[in-house]
Amino acid sequence: MDNIKGNDFDLSPELLDQIQTNIEEIIKSFPIAENNKIDVIKKINFMYSHTRHLSVTDPLTGLYNRRHFETTIEREFLRAQRYKSDLSIALMDVDFFKKINDTYGHLCGDYVLREIAYLTLENFRKTDFVFRYGGEEIVILLTETPLDKAVIPIERLRKAIEEYPFCYDCNSMKITVSIGVEGFNENIETPDDMLNNADKALYLAKERGRNQVISSLAL
Ligand code: GH3
Ligand code: MG
Ligand code: MG
Repeated sequence: MDNIKGNDFDLSPELLDQIQTNIEEIIKSFPIAENNKIDVIKKINFMYSHTRHLSVTDPLTGLYNRRHFETTIEREFLRAQRYKSDLSIALMDVDFFKKINDTYGHLCGDYVLREIAYLTLENFRKTDFVFRYGGEEIVILLTETPLDKAVIPIERLRKAIEEYPFCYDCNSMKITVSIGVEGFNENIETPDDMLNNADKALYLAKERGRNQVISSLAL
């Protein structure tokens, strides 16, 4: 079966919705009062959407999680390939984040991550996707956006973070980020190629002194 990967079930949203509809049908066939049936269906629908939301969300930042990134990039990549549409990816990493944790504590580090998540969401279109990729790494997928256009909002985000007055427990601090960007092109064969190139560009941004955006054209 296509939807079983190793020991893990990977059910498509369509299949989950189908199961949800069937559950509603089963409840309707139960010998309980009609009014109660509606309440039970409402409760199950709520639990279902809540669980679905949790399964794609990072609890600290509220951003989409790594798991959702894997499925989204796969889908958006196929779309870009099939319809020859534009797609860009940005990989962002907080500069010297360990020092923030070591100096002000982990709760302060968590605060910084939440603020950065908020600034990131604010900076992009509703059609773009923002994920917490790892500890202090965020990935942004910009749909219908070529590399040369993607660097504009990404550079705006870098600047917004640099200028943001981070303040935790009466300690104000300056935070910067480094970002690597890659756009879909004919030399790219898989979603991993895109991510790897963005990662290489990010590495170069770190090497060149951090607090900067580097596109894969510089590689
Ligand atoms: P660089 O500029 O090279 O990226 O330096 P860095 O210190 O940011 O890099 P490094 O990878 O050494 O440190 C990342 C730190 O992120 C280490 C880890 O303690 C911290 N971290 C990862 N996840 C979390 C989290 O959820 N909360 C907090 N507070 N810290 C986290
Ligand atoms: Mg890192
Ligand atoms: Mg870092």
